[in-house]
Amino acid sequence: TATCLTAIEDAGALNAFVHKTPEIATEQAAAADARIKAGDAPAMCGIPLGIKDLFCTKGVPSQAASRILEGFKPEYESTVTTQLFDAGAVMLGKLNMDEFAMGSSNETSVYGDAVNPWKVDDRNLTPGGSSGGSASAVAADLCLAATGTDTGGSIRQPAAFTGITGLKPTYGRVSRWGVVAFASSLDQAGPMTKDVRDAAIMLQAMCGHDPKDSTSADLAVPDFEAALTGDIKGKVIGIPKEYRMDGMPAEIAKLWEDGTAMLKDAGAVIKDISLPHTKYALPAYYVIAPAEASSNLARYDGVRFGHRAKLDAGDGITEMYEKTRAEGFGHEVQRRVMVGTYVLSAGFYDAYYNRARRVRALIKRDFDNVFADGVDAILTPTTPSAAFGLGEMTDADPIQMYLNDVFTVTVNLAGLPGIAVPTGTDASGLPLGLQLIGRPWEEADLLNVAYSLE
Ligand code: GLN
Repeated sequence: TATCLTAIEDAGALNAFVHKTPEIATEQAAAADARIKAGDAPAMCGIPLGIKDLFCTKGVPSQAASRILEGFKPEYESTVTTQLFDAGAVMLGKLNMDEFAMGSSNETSVYGDAVNPWKVDDRNLTPGGSSGGSASAVAADLCLAATGTDTGGSIRQPAAFTGITGLKPTYGRVSRWGVVAFASSLDQAGPMTKDVRDAAIMLQAMCGHDPKDSTSADLAVPDFEAALTGDIKGKVIGIPKEYRMDGMPAEIAKLWEDGTAMLKDAGAVIKDISLPHTKYALPAYYVIAPAEASSNLARYDGVRFGHRAKLDAGDGITEMYEKTRAEGFGHEVQRRVMVGTYVLSAGFYDAYYNRARRVRALIKRDFDNVFADGVDAILTPTTPSAAFGLGEMTDADPIQMYLNDVFTVTVNLAGLPGIAVPTGTDASGLPLGLQLIGRPWEEADLLNVAYSLE
């Protein structure tokens, strides 16, 4: 913990930690020490973590990187952080992210950009998003692991951009209670770690049934670390042809081929599969996610949380809402609220929102079919490229940014577990990762296949 606290001070340029909690860390570390001395030490005991700013942490600023939550200190602790702290983990502070987890580059944060510790010719690169601070902090050794959340790729894409491991569990495996909501039917928290074993250990502490989240699954939790046997003989790995996108860079295609060969050498059976509705995933996601976001973000009204605009004489409650939301939300959040409100409006609900929901069901059915056909896991690239430069993709062309999520959003739409594992580098030495998608609730199996890719 002490080493990490010093490293954080020295790494201010990464802008990964947006709120530091050295007093809490020191106190928790001392308590962990006492537990270790007393012989009562679970695996997470004394492990210094960074916590994404989307998690509510009691008495500690939890702003979802938004101006609208300025000054908000929750009265309660999220279930995930409660469980981690009960297991003896230590909180070093809160981590940078895209505002309300909307973004793929950590450039929509009220705290400014988080920076990737990997550089090419001193060019500042994005750590990805929305869990950009988490990825940057783990990759730069500012903490041993971090929490992330993933609505459309926000754990896996930043993991790939920074050369770390990121796991999005099955929807319902990890409680969403106390995690600021973006798109409730897609959001899922997960571990961002240095390797697969750490992901298994951290998931164990984070997950499990929570009566406070009605979508949390009441299922037994297996021993994830014990599942890491390295034996994947006879496992069937699907390679979906629809992920071989036009114009895929040669280095991504090569990475994918190398990963396939590695799994084959380890005894897996490689099978070509088809997920025919893949090309509709991105448009469906960018209807459903904003729709749910516009509803979830209606609660930020200047009354219940955080920021309230200064009002002029004669302003009524409508002006208070309008001014507060206009200055409290950044551009990308406003864009999502507008898109979401539009697709949910009476005249367009069927044409957009209901159609996107039907597409979502078809995407889920594609996966159900290949799993019913005996496929154990699916191997794809995580991202269409390595980390890009900060400021390279502009606010003026959001579609360009959304295309980053092309390989990751299907997993959220289908509620499946997915893991990003670093497996190579591009020509300039930047990390690249592969994604494995598993059967629902089979994180143990998925982690074991991922373990063979390391
Ligand atoms: N990049 C996607 C978006 O902007 C995913 C974000 C996420 O997973 N939280 O919506």
